[in-house]
Amino acid sequence: MRVLIVEDDVALRHSLAGNLRAAGFTVDEAATAAEGEYFAGEFAVQVALVDLGLPDRSGIDLVRRLRAAGRRFPILILTAREHWQDKVTGLNAGADDYVVKPCHPDELKARINALLRRAAGQARDGRGRGQPMV
Ligand code: CA
Repeated sequence: MRVLIVEDDVALRHSLAGNLRAAGFTVDEAATAAEGEYFAGEFAVQVALVDLGLPDRSGIDLVRRLRAAGRRFPILILTAREHWQDKVTGLNAGADDYVVKPCHPDELKARINALLRRAAGQARDGRGRGQPMV
């Protein structure tokens, strides 16, 4: 499974990437929204982790641009902000889930796996995004 991490905090990004690699994921690391957008276009990304506070533009904007470009992989927002408004804005922009940093690596892996299961189920059933699962 290929994971794209878009996070400008180097220590956090390396720690996340290390944890995911140890769990068997292939990890692409981007420090800016522009880099993230580039990797999403170049590699067969299956799930993305996107920080909201990026140096060049907001993570929300990146999520919108990825969706506008037709990228359908699940996106999980990483945010240090506990404000519920950020979560709502992120989900409305096209993200599938979010975690508030700092988050335990096991919780992050469980959420990623849940998103991947859901994405695989949608592909198998031929159901489009945004349609209710029930
Ligand atoms: Ca940040």
